[in-house]
Amino acid sequence: MEPQQVDTLTGVLDKKMTRQLKQYLDICARCAICKDACHQYVATGDLTYLPARRAELIRQIYKKYFTKTGEFVPALYEARDPDESLLDELYESTYACTGCRRCMYYCPFSIDTAWILSVAKAILIAADRGNEMLGQLADAALMKSDNFDMFRDIILDGFKDIEGKVKEMTGDPSAEIPVDKEGADVLYVALAGAHSILPAAAIFHEAGTNWTLSMFESANYGYFFGDAEKARRIADRFMDEAKRLGVKEVVITECGHAYRVAQFFHEAWSGEKHPFKVRHILEVIDEYIRDGRITVRHGAITEPVTYHDPCQVGRNGGIFEQPRDIVRAIASDFRDMTPNREEQWCCGGGGGLVAIAEMEDFRLKSGAKKLEQVKATGARIIASPCENCRLQLEGLNDQLDLGLTVKPVMDLVVDAMEIRR
Ligand code: SF4
Ligand code: SF4
Repeated sequence: MEPQQVDTLTGVLDKKMTRQLKQYLDICARCAICKDACHQYVATGDLTYLPARRAELIRQIYKKYFTKTGEFVPALYEARDPDESLLDELYESTYACTGCRRCMYYCPFSIDTAWILSVAKAILIAADRGNEMLGQLADAALMKSDNFDMFRDIILDGFKDIEGKVKEMTGDPSAEIPVDKEGADVLYVALAGAHSILPAAAIFHEAGTNWTLSMFESANYGYFFGDAEKARRIADRFMDEAKRLGVKEVVITECGHAYRVAQFFHEAWSGEKHPFKVRHILEVIDEYIRDGRITVRHGAITEPVTYHDPCQVGRNGGIFEQPRDIVRAIASDFRDMTPNREEQWCCGGGGGLVAIAEMEDFRLKSGAKKLEQVKATGARIIASPCENCRLQLEGLNDQLDLGLTVKPVMDLVVDAMEIRR
């Protein structure tokens, strides 16, 4: 590799070097406790996917360029140049990571391997080795907002079609999907497609919420790709819309990474404090049920139901009880998985992996632990508030012909909701 290229890549690491990252790079005790926490390592036994080994590749560059010992005696201190072979290894271990942070939960030093790998992604992108599909999807989202006038009418026509279905579902011809509504209390940010708009619209209507639907989807492939600037610009689309409309809160649909980006990353990326709250839709629905703004029939579902904590909603988002309370309010036979909450196994579908065709076999194989957990409950329905998790769970279900039903929590709510008129 040319010295200039090496300078570029080490420059990326230098820019990302905070005290926290330096500590993560200095402190690993190589105890390998994290190996038993990672669903990918457990399913494959391949050292490429051992969390500490993935981070070690960045640590090797760090030792060579940021420590005296590594600079002068690289062989002794396992210091290494970011050459092509290191970048090959880095690509494979980094873009496979779902960012579930289960390894961090079990690490005695709480080393955040997923954070280290976000730096690895920035280095790979600088080396023009970022994942092509995730990069294309991020660029497509930005192209849509940069040329929004071309798409506006198509989007609005789509919303009108969904509005017709909301009227049918609620039996109320006045039910609507408000768009661009100044003075709305809530801006709801859905995913592309009717499936994440329709149930929320019915619930907001029934609860009498003053809401409006975002023109932009919440999914953020800039985040999965590892380009913080693109990820910020993708999230800016609905954050700017929320500011323009003067809403009191932004409510993110059942999408794990979108919730984490909106709730935890966007303010830091943009350097601005949001003038509104950000909540996950299940926090809102739980409040509606508790406050009696909507009523669900207990026992509306009698088949055994289990709940999968998406890593970005549960372990990394802190939302554990509200979804369980909602499911328990509806299902007469709720069966939690073991372990659960912070210790829940990652299903294997996060990190953008469901969008990368060449990773399908690996992804499904990595769901082995999740499958074990689901089977042990004996549940026939799996509820989970993240689209990537649901796609993975459906893939596992189809592959083994298990006959399970995988559902968003919102769909259970709509099926059990009493319509008051
Ligand atoms: S558990 Fe933590 S300290 Fe131990 S090897 Fe893994 S990252 Fe290093
Ligand atoms: S964040 Fe999850 S997928 Fe990534 S290394 Fe840690 S346990 Fe494995």
